[in-house]
Amino acid sequence: MNNLEKTLSIIKPDAVERNLQEEIKKNFIDNGFEIKNEKKIQISKSEAEEFYKVHQSKPFYAELCNYLSSGPIVVMVLEKNNAVIDNRKLMGATDPTKADEGTLRKKYGISIDKNSVHGSDSIENAKIEINFFFKS
Ligand code: UDP
Ligand code: MG
Repeated sequence: MNNLEKTLSIIKPDAVERNLQEEIKKNFIDNGFEIKNEKKIQISKSEAEEFYKVHQSKPFYAELCNYLSSGPIVVMVLEKNNAVIDNRKLMGATDPTKADEGTLRKKYGISIDKNSVHGSDSIENAKIEINFFFKS
C-alpha cells in the first residue's frame, strides 16, 4: 500500500561535530528514505525553545535547548512510505544505551542528551516541524 509520508530529521550537534552527517545520511538512503530538502544551520536558544516547547515542563528542557543551539545541525525532510514510524525505528530508543543494535542512536549516540538524531514522533508533529524549518 502506498502511504507516502514526510518526516523531519535533525542531525544534532554531537554528530555534526564528529563529522558524521554523510554517514548518517547514507543510513537514511540505504533504508529507503529520500532526502527531499536539507540545510546545515545553527539555531538560537529561543528557536530551540520554540522547537522543543512540548518539553517545557521537563527538568531537562533548559539543557536540551542550550544543547540544540550549541553548534551546527543538519535538518532534513525525509520521505518514504510510513516515514514517521520507520524513522523512529531506524533511530532507536532515546537513550543510546537502551537502543537496539543497528539503530542510529546505538551506532552514533553518546548519551541520552547527545543522542545524535531527532525525528518527528507523529504525522501531525512532522508537519509542524517541517514547517518550522522549511516554511512554505
Ligand atoms: N532528553 C534528555 N534527557 C531525558 C530525556 C530526553 O536530555 O531524560 C533529550 C534527548 O536529547 C531527546 C530529547 O530530549 O532526544 C527529546 O526527548 P523525547 O522524549 O522527545 O525523545 P525523542 O523523541 O528524541 O526520542
Ligand atoms: Mg520526541
